[in-house]
Order: sequence, then C-alpha cells, then structure tokens
Amino acid sequence: MKRDPSQALWNPAVETLPREALQALQLDRLRRQVRYNWERSPVHRRKFDEVGAHPNDIRSLADFARIPLMTKEEHRQRQEESLREHGSPIALMGCAPAEEIVRISATSGTTGVPTLYTLTAHDVAIVNEMHARKYWRAGIRPGHTMIQALSLSMFTGGLPLSQGIMHLGACVVPVGIAGGTKRVLDMVALTRPHAIVATPSFGQYLIEEAPKHTGRPAHELGLRYFFCAGEGGGGERDVRQVLADGFGAKVYDHTGGGHAFHGISCDHADEVDGAMHFVSEDHCLLELVDPKKRTPIPLEEGAMGEMVFTFLDWRGGPFMRYALGDLLQVWTKPCPCGKPGIRFKILGRTDDMLTVKGVNVYPQAIAGVITRFRPRLTGVFRIRLDRPGPLVQPPLRLRVEHSGLEPAALATLEHQLTQEFRESLRIRPVFEWLLPGDIPREAGKTRLVEVVQP
Ligand SMILES: [Zn+2]
Repeated sequence: MKRDPSQALWNPAVETLPREALQALQLDRLRRQVRYNWERSPVHRRKFDEVGAHPNDIRSLADFARIPLMTKEEHRQRQEESLREHGSPIALMGCAPAEEIVRISATSGTTGVPTLYTLTAHDVAIVNEMHARKYWRAGIRPGHTMIQALSLSMFTGGLPLSQGIMHLGACVVPVGIAGGTKRVLDMVALTRPHAIVATPSFGQYLIEEAPKHTGRPAHELGLRYFFCAGEGGGGERDVRQVLADGFGAKVYDHTGGGHAFHGISCDHADEVDGAMHFVSEDHCLLELVDPKKRTPIPLEEGAMGEMVFTFLDWRGGPFMRYALGDLLQVWTKPCPCGKPGIRFKILGRTDDMLTVKGVNVYPQAIAGVITRFRPRLTGVFRIRLDRPGPLVQPPLRLRVEHSGLEPAALATLEHQLTQEFRESLRIRPVFEWLLPGDIPREAGKTRLVEVVQP
C-alpha cells in the first residue's frame, strides 16, 4: 500500500465522518468485536458472565457500559495465570491463533511486570496507519526524513513507531538515545532530518547542548518539526514555545504506541489548552469513568475522568473496557482548525488525584491554571498536604512562586487566581506566596505534591 502524496488525507472518508456516522461505525465494529472476544477468550467471556450478559445484548454503548472494567493489575494477574496454566502469557486474553501473532510489545512498565499488547499482521497495519495519520496531519510527506530520538527499548516508541513512519512513506532514522546526546546530534548533522521525535525534556537538553557538539545553535540544524512524545509537557504552551524557539520548528504533541489509542495536537494547540485530536476513533472506543466510583462520565465539553478504552477491529489481544489508570480531559466543541472529532489531554495518573470537599482535583489541572498567570507567576508551585491523599482536609494549600510583585499587585493577582480556580476547578485554595527560585528545580519528573506532617 503506497500513500498517494497528492491526497490531503490518506483516508478522508473516515477522518472527516460526521459524528453520527462515526458513532454508527463504532457501534457496528463494537458489536462484532465483543462477539469475537466472547467467542475466543475465557477472560473476556468471564466479564460477560459476571453481569449475566451475552454479546447479543450489546445493542448500544449504554449496554456495553454494563460490562465490568479490566484494570492493568487484573491484566497482569491474567497474564501470570495464563503463563502458569498454559505456558503462554497470551493464551487467556489473546483471541487469535498463535500462528497469526506477529508482534508482542508492552507498556514501558515502570512498575511491576509489563502488560502485553498482542498483534496480528492486521493489527500492525492499524497501528502503522494511525502513526501515518498523525504525521500526515502535521505535514510530513514522502521525501521527509525523521529522526527518532526516543528510548527505543520503550518497545512502542521503538520498532512500531519506525514502521508507522515508513508506512507513511517518509524516511526514519531510528537512532534512539542509548548512544547519548552527541550521537543524536552527529546523526542530525549527517542525515539532515526535517523532523525529530523526542521527549520535551530531551529536546530542551538538545537545545542547550547543540552549540557545544555542533558549533551551531539548535535552530540552525534544519529541523522543521518537533514531535513531543513519551512524557507530559508537550501539552503546555510554555514548553512548546521553548522548543519552537530553540529549534525554529513547528511543535506537536502526540501520543500512541503499539495499541489503538492515538492523538496529535494541531496548529491551534495554544487556543485549545494544548489538547490533541483523537485520530483513531474508528479503531478505539473511548469512555470516561469516575476514578473511584467507576461510574460513567459523559463525554462532554471539558469532562474529566479515567480513560477506558476498547479496541475496535482488533484481532490479536483486543482490550475491552480497559482502564489504564490515566486521567483525561476531553473537549467536544469544534476546533478552530476545522478537523472534526473529540480532543483530549492526558492530565496524569489516577493515583495523583485529590478530593477536596467531594470535588476531584488533579495536580496537572492546577498546573494548567497556574500557567495561565505567567509571567506574573513563575509557573513553579507545590501542593502542600498534611497527609497523603486522595482525601484533602480543606482548604487546599498551594505554595506558589510569584515574579516579585508589589503587595497591591499581588493582592489583585490573588483575587483573580482565586476566581479562576473557583470557576474552572470548583475549588478555593489558599496560597503561600514565594519568590522566584524558592522552590528547588528538579532534574527528573517533577512531583507537584509534597506531604509534610504537621
Ligand atoms: Zn485542531
């Protein structure tokens, strides 16, 4: 299959479908998928049995929402059970015969045993197509060279991503970061790529290191696109700005590895809270649930909840009502770019959630509010708790750095900030004001919550 470079979109029929037509397609694929899952996997069949349901009963998304969720922890247990009893980690959850499985990849697995994604050639083709869709939207075409500067041992950021780039017809240089910063910069100088895929923090590091290794500032390396992956940050305006200025490149945030959930931001990211367009709705059904009560949350403008996904038209190891532990915010109103469909932002992990007077609050959402008040605020803050969450004894205490304002200006700012928190997050925090640099900067992933026992 060769992508025709003259086409504006590879599959415009799917990507521009009106909402109702897309939902009809999803329901049709869902009904076929649940029957397939039920027929072939004892784990999936058990989910139906738990609520006395049969695939024939699934006539709407509401019917489907009765099927119990699968968690990552449960997935891990089924994998171990499968290995113990059948000598294969995928015998219980896998739906295709072994001779059709061509790839097993996994989540990065920061804690515990990695959970597996199992793919047939058909599923690999879906993943390839989703990667190609994302880069095509951003403007990548055959003739472009992309340097892949992610940890290739992250499984999904490695071979699956390379294959997707090749599927589009662009050229990939999968250099990875194991060889160090100098190796990446040497390969940039040698292969003259148009685009780079890297974490935002590695990107910022490359900007600092480029003059030392190449004798030139990063914006003279010729990169026209920076694609953020692998960590949060690409959704924040300031982070995108630093990368855009540093490389003289267009910056996109994107997500999606070896599975069916994929998204990429557009040229209007600054106007839409850095959200990404959900580009794989024809292959992945998204639901939101309350992280604690596990009750459904309607997909409405601004809704927040734990993401639950179900693969549609997947043959290897299809995920069904799978709760990955990620918190998502979604937007349903039209994007200024004109592309249809839902937009989303990954807010963090469910473990980070706090509850203040019955209202669920996520540290990333607080960061979003704080960021809106730059440059009067530095953007650096901490949530101070007396004891570990999620339950917070009100008021919620925030330690926030301002930029050195006079008392009158600070009072005005505090008033506006209080109002913004009340309107957008329905909380009324109290502030402890700090000066720039009072909060130590961390090199690794920043922990926004600090627990200090009184
Ligand atoms: Zn858009």
